[in-house]
This record gives sequence, structure tokens and C-alpha cells, in this order.
Amino acid sequence: MVNLLDLDPPALAAWVAGLGEKPFRATQVSRWLHQRFVADVGAMTDLARPLRDRLATLAEVREPAVVGDTTATDGTRKWLFDVGGGNAVEAVFIPEDDRGTLCVSSQAGCALDCAFCSTGKQGFNRNLTVAEIIGQLRHANRTLLADGVSTTGRPECEQPPLGGMARSAKGGPFAAPWVEQGRAPITNVVLMGMGEPLANFDNVVSALRLFLDDNAYGLSRRRVTLSTSGLVPALDRLRDACPVALAVSLHAPDDALRDRLVPINRKYPLALLLAACHRYLERAPRDFVTFEYVLLDGVNDADAQADALVATVRGVPCKLNLIPFNPFPGSGFRASPRARVLAFQQRLQAAGLVATVRKTRGDDIDAACGQLAGRVADRTRRRIPLRSVAAMATAETRSTQ
Ligand code: SAH
Ligand code: SF4
Repeated sequence: MVNLLDLDPPALAAWVAGLGEKPFRATQVSRWLHQRFVADVGAMTDLARPLRDRLATLAEVREPAVVGDTTATDGTRKWLFDVGGGNAVEAVFIPEDDRGTLCVSSQAGCALDCAFCSTGKQGFNRNLTVAEIIGQLRHANRTLLADGVSTTGRPECEQPPLGGMARSAKGGPFAAPWVEQGRAPITNVVLMGMGEPLANFDNVVSALRLFLDDNAYGLSRRRVTLSTSGLVPALDRLRDACPVALAVSLHAPDDALRDRLVPINRKYPLALLLAACHRYLERAPRDFVTFEYVLLDGVNDADAQADALVATVRGVPCKLNLIPFNPFPGSGFRASPRARVLAFQQRLQAAGLVATVRKTRGDDIDAACGQLAGRVADRTRRRIPLRSVAAMATAETRSTQ
């Protein structure tokens, strides 16, 4: 049985063509799957009955199972998905006045072992499939719609949709304002959950294609952001395959410190990474890169380090996003005091950089940045050494050149 959620638009088109069906059938199926959130192929009523019968024998629609669903006092909501083998990953919905953002995971665990990251501390277990990545967005949209949650986070409608279709109490079209505008509850996606998206390149690109496809989620490239710790060859491949908005986890102004905090820097040091950012910007939907910088007390938050950071990023069109460190047991780091965070920000701003401090959301349900831990079984045995990941990324690049 093929899981239809594993197929990106070209793969679905090829699969439907392989059944001897016309291309528009793939469009119809995609809309049922990703816009009406139908799981039962028998309910895809604009497909001819014989095709529905064939689909029922050949295909299934399977999202990862939800094993946790918590909402914080600020409206942030976190889902925990079982991805088998004792592993679970998390997705976080962050409602704001004008948008609903979903933070999506790309791997169970992460091999890159950044010093301050709880996902990294779990080690790597495995890459998520396309269905497991896209399933997070599909589930969030479907559930929020069913709960009548608009992008403002306020319940707008008392009647939940019936049978996966949006309907009002009288059985007519569901009348929530963002639906009329053609907007699903999730308007922005950030690949900033668990895992390094560029280390799961093929599945992440397929998921990106579904995020962007007009017959699936229809998000603009500017509203989809991929965050990477800096796998340079894969970043070049992304530029060619599916450029979206880019965030790069910098966290240090120089190689000596970044080698310690973000060990992949030993393989792809700052000069290589910043050159790759320049190349990426030639194709990116936004004309800047967002540099993420977690502020760690006494480690990377001194005035002199702010000055060094200004010099390091000079020449790259960028915005700096300062992230208050979210502590977790045994991390060995402390968050910089608020006054230090603001002083660091001001130092960057005085040098002419755009620097913001990320709001911490969902703190009371451990949904803030870097707190997404999920569960990863068997983590010591399957842990992959850093050099293998770097080698994998390099090998993949070679094989596609
Ligand atoms: N692997 C990717 C994306 C996932 S992490 C990356 O590293 O960019 C998303 C962001 O959260 C990264 O900038 C990461 O450095 C940051 N982060 C990790 N642990 C954190 C913590 N404990 N507190 C605050 N931010 C953290
Ligand atoms: Fe992996 Fe990103 Fe965490 Fe580093 S910060 S260990 S790359 S998830």
C-alpha cells in the first residue's frame, strides 16, 4: 500500500499516470488530501467509482499518530506525534494576530549535537518520512479548523466541520473568515522543530513542494522558512531544488567558539557558510538571511562578541534574531540575563544591523525553541558520528551533480 501523504506533487502525478489516469485526477486527489483533509478514498466523490475502488486497494492515507496535545496559557499548542520504534516528534502552533505559524520537525533526534540543544543531546534516530513531515501540517490545519480556531487564536465558530469538510450548523459552507479568504489556520511554516532539515534533504524538499503547491497548502515561499545549522553543500542544493526563506543558526562570531557550540562548523567553517548564504540569496524569495543567535550567559554574549559578530556578518544582507536560551536539565548553560540580551541587541543595532529578540512562547508546555525533546529510543546505540553526517551530505551532493 502506498501512503498517499508520502507523494509530493510530481510523485503523485507519476503515480496517478501509472494507473493510466489523466493528470487532472492527481490534482483532484491532492485537493482531497491536503485541502479537505479527507482520509477515506471512498469519500473522494468527484473521482469515478472504479478509480475510487482501485485507490482503496492500492493506497492509504496515514498521518503519524498523535500521542500528546497540549495548549499553553498564551494559546501556543504542541502536538506530540508517535513515529514508531519508541520515537516521538513535536510540532508547535504559534498563534499571532495576523498569522498562525507551525514549527515543524524534520528528524527524530539530530546527529549534529549542538552543545545547547536538547534535541541534539538525544542523538540521532532517523529521518522523518514525507508523510510524517507533511502530516504535522495536515494534522494542525485539520484540528484547528475542526476546533474553529482562526489565525487570531480565537474560536470563531461553534460548529466543528463534519466529515472533514467545512460546514456550518445548517450544512452550508463553513463561514469562518479566514476560510472565506481561502486561508487555512496555518499561514506560515518554520522548519525549526526537531532535527536538521538539510540532513534529511530529499524528504524535506518533497515536503516543501507540498507546502508550496497550489493544490496542496499553497503557501508562498516567503512564508516557509527553513532553519539550518549550516550544511553547506545541501544549502547549495536547496537553492537549486526549492528555495524558501532561510534562517541560519550562527550562535558565535568566530570559528573557535562556533566549533564548540555548533560542531558542524569544523566541517563547514564560517567563511564557507557565509559564502553559501550569498549564493543562496541569489535565488531566495527574501532578500536577506535571518541569522539565529542563542544568547548563552558568559559564553557568547559579551559586547566584544557583539562587535565581532557585526564584523563577521558584514556584507551579507541579514537580520539577526537573538534567541533567549531555553534551559533544560543537564544543559550546562545559563540564559543571558535580560539586561545583557538587550545590551547585546543595542550594540548590534548601533552598528546598523536589524536585530530582534525572539519572544518566548509556550514556555509552560515546554514548547519554546530548543525545548522540543519528543522521545528518542535507543539513542546511544544508533548515534551517528558527526563526520558520517558531513560525509553523507557531501556524498549526496556529488551524486546529484
Ligand atoms: N537544526 C536546525 C533547526 C532546528 S533548531 C538548526 O539548528 O537551525 C531551531 C533553532 O533553535 C536553532 O537556531 C537552534 O540553534 C535553536 N535552539 C536549539 N536549542 C535551543 C535552546 N535550548 N534554547 C534556545 N534555542 C535553541
Ligand atoms: Fe540539531 Fe539544530 Fe539542535 Fe543543532 S540546534 S543539534 S542542528 S536540531
